[in-house]
Amino acid sequence: MSFSFDIKHSESGSLARVGTINTPHGPIQTPAFIPVGTKATVKSVLPEAMKDLGSQALLSNAYHLYLQPGSDVLDEAGGLATFMNWPGPTFTDSGGFQVLSLGVGFKKVLAMDAQTFRRDDVIAGNKDRLAHVDDEGVTFKSHLDGSMHRFTPEVSMQVQHQIGADIMFAFDECTTLHNTRPYQELAMDRTYAWAIRCLDEHKRLTEERIGKPYQALFGVIQGAQYEDLRKKAATELGTLESNGQSFDGFGIGGALDKGQLGTIVSWVNEILPEEKPRHLLGIGAPEDLFVGVENGCDTFDCVLASRIARTSAVYTMEGRFNLSNSRFKRDFAPIDPECDCYTCTHYTRAYMHHVFRGKEIISATLATIHNERFIVRLVDQMRQALLDGNFADMKADFLGRYTHRSGQSRD
Ligand SMILES: [Zn+2]
Repeated sequence: MSFSFDIKHSESGSLARVGTINTPHGPIQTPAFIPVGTKATVKSVLPEAMKDLGSQALLSNAYHLYLQPGSDVLDEAGGLATFMNWPGPTFTDSGGFQVLSLGVGFKKVLAMDAQTFRRDDVIAGNKDRLAHVDDEGVTFKSHLDGSMHRFTPEVSMQVQHQIGADIMFAFDECTTLHNTRPYQELAMDRTYAWAIRCLDEHKRLTEERIGKPYQALFGVIQGAQYEDLRKKAATELGTLESNGQSFDGFGIGGALDKGQLGTIVSWVNEILPEEKPRHLLGIGAPEDLFVGVENGCDTFDCVLASRIARTSAVYTMEGRFNLSNSRFKRDFAPIDPECDCYTCTHYTRAYMHHVFRGKEIISATLATIHNERFIVRLVDQMRQALLDGNFADMKADFLGRYTHRSGQSRD
């Protein structure tokens, strides 16, 4: 089995579409939210529960799995899906973002407001940088044990082939809104050169690893907030072919100014080949997902839903709140009366408040199930609304009620 993307419906008047990504491990109905299991686990939740809550695929991280347990271990295990007992498609990101973000100390989320961000929001205070970029690749120090490592486009492809996810991303240099324009240009040229090397190595490995399921490779569009750079990247990578190999799809990455998200994404998606899927990297706040879908993105991933769940923050149709707040001590309603998840159909806010206050492990499990279901279902509802022809109404209805707007990508 190989890889394909079928578009079922294209919205007139916008870039939105509904389709199916077919992978060797099964289909993904798009638009879709892909929950993140960074180290081959969605923290605190069993794969069966992720399946039950409607997750169609999971995204893991090449950088983390390379350091521990080692990508060769996943190869021996039969690939990422088998290793973690996940009965469906998987993605891995290339490690570029982690190598660089842990290296220079970016905050974990790059989506931020360009109007208000401060230098401290982007670059951490530690002067001992853990990563150094050159034209060949990145040398970095493991955040686990301080050992030195080197990632090049070829190494990233070798690592991702060993991990065996259905969809992989090309190794790119990820910048922040803080970087200067000349640096953004330099990083983009490097990302383009690395894209060619990724395609060549991917082709070589695909031919060498006979009998393995086909792994699709997505190119990553960088260019920060600059229209000309984003369009240049989309034009160049969209049509790039090296030795007969082109990208199977695209990721939109890098620094995304939240206030300009729709504009930036539309610059790119108006240019990228329509017949290939597009993934918006690291975006998962409810209001941002609407923007991504209506501007032509097919899949999304974000750690936010599970990360905030572990701190007692939950999404509901009325907005986001914290279950550890004392006002929930005797509140016997479900987290969200309109939610159909396991947590909401079996537990109350009062119980959730109790387990969070008591620091019980089950608090993370139950809250994560709810948040992941909320976001997965929200994007599923967008897909259905596109098919039913009432996306605009559905969006207005949701955003009219959902009150928590600012700062939520910054956790
Ligand atoms: Zn729920």
